[in-house]
Amino acid sequence: MAEISNLNYTTSEHMEILSCLQLGIEHALLNTKGKKDILMRDFNSIESTSFPKEGSGKTPSHNSNSFTFKSYASETFHHLRKQFGINQNEFIDSICQMPLKALHNPGASGSLLFITEDDNYILKTVSDKEARFLQQLLPGYWMNLHQNSKTLIPKFFGLFGYQTVIRSMRFVIMNNVLPTNIKYQLKYDLKGSSYHRKAPETEVAQGAMPPTQKDIDFQDKFPKGIIMTEDKRDLLMDVLKRDCDVLESFDIMDYSLLVGVHNVTQVLKEAENVAQVSCTIKKPRSILRSRMSINMNSCYDCPTIKNSIELATHLATVPPGGFPAKLPDGDFVILFIGVIDILQNFRAKKRIEHAVKSIVINKETISVQKPSFYAKRFLRFMKEEVIVEEVKKSKKGVTFGV
Ligand code: ATP
Ligand code: CA
Ligand code: CA
Repeated sequence: MAEISNLNYTTSEHMEILSCLQLGIEHALLNTKGKKDILMRDFNSIESTSFPKEGSGKTPSHNSNSFTFKSYASETFHHLRKQFGINQNEFIDSICQMPLKALHNPGASGSLLFITEDDNYILKTVSDKEARFLQQLLPGYWMNLHQNSKTLIPKFFGLFGYQTVIRSMRFVIMNNVLPTNIKYQLKYDLKGSSYHRKAPETEVAQGAMPPTQKDIDFQDKFPKGIIMTEDKRDLLMDVLKRDCDVLESFDIMDYSLLVGVHNVTQVLKEAENVAQVSCTIKKPRSILRSRMSINMNSCYDCPTIKNSIELATHLATVPPGGFPAKLPDGDFVILFIGVIDILQNFRAKKRIEHAVKSIVINKETISVQKPSFYAKRFLRFMKEEVIVEEVKKSKKGVTFGV
């Protein structure tokens, strides 16, 4: 987790960038008024502040080179954070008071990724184009949040720019899809395309825990998909469909479904170091209901978990928001899912890339596609190959549910 993702930067450069970011963000947040109403111009605003090394009337002195800091649409993001239930002081503490850790980025774009010490937030560098696109997107993004509170599209909490005489960068702050303090045995970045969609050996060998694998790795591991009950799957697919419609309407493509697999059976097995036994998990319902942080309205065949007390105790430690599911071997898992990397707009450059690649490669397998085709292929893949419906059994006895 603490690896440096981009070798173009030395550790001391990273440290300098991060300390300037923290200074700039804190200043920007403390100077946001928190207006009652958001007006159209609040989506487009840019506030720029100079941070001379020696300090100024408005800014403190610091040990880094002088820099300029920009805060984009600060009032809008203030409202968005409020809507996401984020406390301003806690947000400042997480981003600005605690050290930020560099994350290994397996992506090709070379963007830098940082995560806050409490694991709640991710800071990612975005290109100038992506930053401009996010700002243009904000009114629609705002509208989508009001229409669809269950959306899996990233929660954006801020957009900032940092500039020195030699460097200019933009950062977004977003939610971490894979929450704190639980173990993921597997992690996938899925698009529904197959060209170049296998994690390179180096990524797996680097031992990022766990490595981020891709579509072909998923198909190799789970040729029949991961199983979910009908109600959960319908809910998930409905949310994804609505999200894909919104992304398509903004001409967005090349996004991914990030899936973290928390294998409850395996964790319990490791903790207890006991052999797998079949059991019926029915009681104690009261414990399950009161302590479980995850809503399990579904029943699963559960031949791999020893008893309900262990399960309930473990589930009480699992953050909310996951989707209960089952692996083909019967292991009970909780999937943490989010749509990420949504700032790629199908513009001229991508159109050309698409046209060129289509000549030499089977055009259906490449990731860069027209947004409508991309969304359709993405949804089909998730529905037919990633999350499959549980085959109903009439046999009673080996299920649990609350
Ligand atoms: P590329 O454009 O080359 O695909 P990128 O630099 O735009 O890559 P992303 O695709 O956004 O980067 O993210 C790269 C990886 O970082 C993801 O596969 C995932 O492992 C991790 N990641 C990105 N965003 C998040 C997030 N919000 N929560 C958790 N992990 C994330
Ligand atoms: Ca990506
Ligand atoms: Ca990207």
